[in-house]
Amino acid sequence: MFTAFLIKYAEIGVKGKNRYLFEDMLVRQMKYALKKCEGRFVIRKSQGRIFAEAQGEFDFDEAVERLRRVFGISGICPVVYAEDEGFEKLCQRVTAYVDEVYPDKHRTFKVNARRARKDYPIESMEINALLGEAILKAYPEMSVDVHKPDIMLNVEIREKIYIYSEIIPGPGGMPVGSGGKAMLLLSGGIDSPVAGYMIAKRGVKLDAVYFHAPPYTSERAKQKVVDLARIVSRYAGPVWLHVINFTDIQLYIHEKCPHEELTIIMRRYMMRIAEHIAKETDCLGLITGESIGQVASQTMQSLIATNEVCELPVYRPLIGFDKLEIVEVANRIDTFETSILPYEDCCTIFVAKHPVTKPNLKFIRRHEQNLQEGIEELVRTALETKELIVVEE
Ligand code: ATP
Ligand code: MG
Repeated sequence: MFTAFLIKYAEIGVKGKNRYLFEDMLVRQMKYALKKCEGRFVIRKSQGRIFAEAQGEFDFDEAVERLRRVFGISGICPVVYAEDEGFEKLCQRVTAYVDEVYPDKHRTFKVNARRARKDYPIESMEINALLGEAILKAYPEMSVDVHKPDIMLNVEIREKIYIYSEIIPGPGGMPVGSGGKAMLLLSGGIDSPVAGYMIAKRGVKLDAVYFHAPPYTSERAKQKVVDLARIVSRYAGPVWLHVINFTDIQLYIHEKCPHEELTIIMRRYMMRIAEHIAKETDCLGLITGESIGQVASQTMQSLIATNEVCELPVYRPLIGFDKLEIVEVANRIDTFETSILPYEDCCTIFVAKHPVTKPNLKFIRRHEQNLQEGIEELVRTALETKELIVVEE
């Protein structure tokens, strides 16, 4: 029955001359989201609104599911198009619409007609009254409520006539790409995919970096990260995943530094390398899944230590989240089941029994001096042998 979707979007912050940029990015993300959908769609901007019009048959549920992942959309209204074949016919179409969409008739409604085409012979107010009458006549159980109707029946008279009443909530946020790009440190855990999702929701495109430590971490652990990037890409668009072979750097740190500081020093090298790639790829910040106090390396003191090695801002959207709250989002965005697959990640192999929880920066810096001889070369090699995987759905 439905042939199109009218897309509602939040307009806060997009007034004035940037609005068309915002709309264009939204259109682009909608195209991306619907590209793989069963059926073909034309996305069209018209008078400050965006429509996705199906060209022939399509899978309604799939299309809605995909649009619900496009940030910037606040509501998705399924629309029925009718030809203008006279008012009599319109009354029939509208009553048939009500019958099909609302099998239970014990509801209140209001007709909200708009005559966008002024050569239509009946005025909006009169259309409201006449259509209202026709509905009441067909379904006496229904009643009109002009203040708080259960059903707001919109009828817009344009070249064609649009009928719609349902609003399916969208994800909100800003269209991806409207806010620049950032580098996500993506591990195989629960937190970092959620962190990436949250920043993408604010309109930020994502690149990602994964530190792989073969043979201590398996190919399956790497595949898991690729799979997570793929799930995130349903929302964020294609993700360029940079895979860094981190083994030699980790072994070197393991050999030269006190074991209780291993995690912190390793994290500092992750941040340095991530920032290096970020700057090369025009990213404006780094993103991690850290949350205060979750583990030894995420106390406020530890965060000072990992933070001090980079210039770019580090976005930590989960900083004030409890694990349960993070899991809730992970479930909602469908990363949880993949995140909990039991493949070792590189941090679990090199962890000390008693890692420092309040690292002393002076000591950390001094112990990093032990690495002076070989670390630059190792970092250079890691960057040179970096693998790029373009991940998309
Ligand atoms: P996550 O669930 O995201 O793995 P975590 O609770 O295991 O987080 P840590 O292992 O301390 O926490 O890592 C903190 C953050 O550092 C992660 O959220 C992620 O952003 C980044 N990180 C950790 N390990 C890696 C890795 N191997 N590759 C890329 N980023 C990583
Ligand atoms: Mg982890």
